[in-house]
Amino acid sequence: MVTPPVPPASSEAPLNPMQQAVVDTLGKSPDWTPLPTSVVDAVRTMLHDQLAGIAPRFSKDNPLWLSKNKLTTIHGCEAHHVATRDSFAWTPITARGTVLHKAVELGVHWRGDSSPAEIVDEAIARLADSNNNVADFLIGMSPGDAAQLRGYAVDLYTRFEECFPKLKPSWRPVTESSARYELFGGAIVLGTRADLTLGTAEQKVIIDVKSGGLHVSHREDLRFYALVEALRSGMAPRRLATYSLAAARADVEDVSEGVLQAAVRRVVAGVQRMVAVELDKAEPTRRPAAHCRWCPLNEECTQGMAYLARDPEEE
Ligand code: SF4
Repeated sequence: MVTPPVPPASSEAPLNPMQQAVVDTLGKSPDWTPLPTSVVDAVRTMLHDQLAGIAPRFSKDNPLWLSKNKLTTIHGCEAHHVATRDSFAWTPITARGTVLHKAVELGVHWRGDSSPAEIVDEAIARLADSNNNVADFLIGMSPGDAAQLRGYAVDLYTRFEECFPKLKPSWRPVTESSARYELFGGAIVLGTRADLTLGTAEQKVIIDVKSGGLHVSHREDLRFYALVEALRSGMAPRRLATYSLAAARADVEDVSEGVLQAAVRRVVAGVQRMVAVELDKAEPTRRPAAHCRWCPLNEECTQGMAYLARDPEEE
């Protein structure tokens, strides 16, 4: 039995089954209690202790930046990680999430009726006129890219509206919520940007919204978010949820001491391998998987070509 964040008032439109499922999934159980701050302190000590040996390889002027994407790629395929670490480019596909998050933010405070296309157009206009690093792409994109981006974003926002109850200001929704934690005087920096957070700091719910399906690595991403948020604020978030707009389903995990410890182990292992392949020039391992499809090495990598040429029926 769970309690929704805020029950809908009787004058409001009833929730559809997808929206009700979100309320039930993200609501707080009456017997929930926050993790003690001593747990966060212990996790902080664990992370510092396990990175202390490697930290002198970096400095405040030459820091190691750790993000969700870097951890995903180093634990995915190391050769792919090395080949793509400095190659991010804005495209309609990479920009669509940022536009969706801006549209969600506007939708929380929008007064009166609106269509997804109106809100998306406003979101694109505001991002283009902001200091967000997508702004230059939005200002200079071709008419074709503009139409493609608008189509993607309207589709995502329409599905978001179908799946999520109307977010109320009292739920404290924040989109593109950034968190950052520095270790060793800024030599190692952990940074995150959550799609959506709900609730106050001591009972925060962190939500990643996916246009496609759910994958086991998404849970690892959110554990990293929970770790950074706990280290930053001294308070562990309450719950983590990856929500698939395609499946209208969430993968949910409550934040526990074990979840935070697992995140520490993954960060430490990731840093060790980044140092090995980036600084010490160790031979990066290759692990073919779905990421081979967009890997820049996929026309020369034997393992990747074999993976992409396989018969899907064999899976
Ligand atoms: S093609 Fe696949 S296996 Fe090869 S480097 Fe790229 S991601 Fe790794």
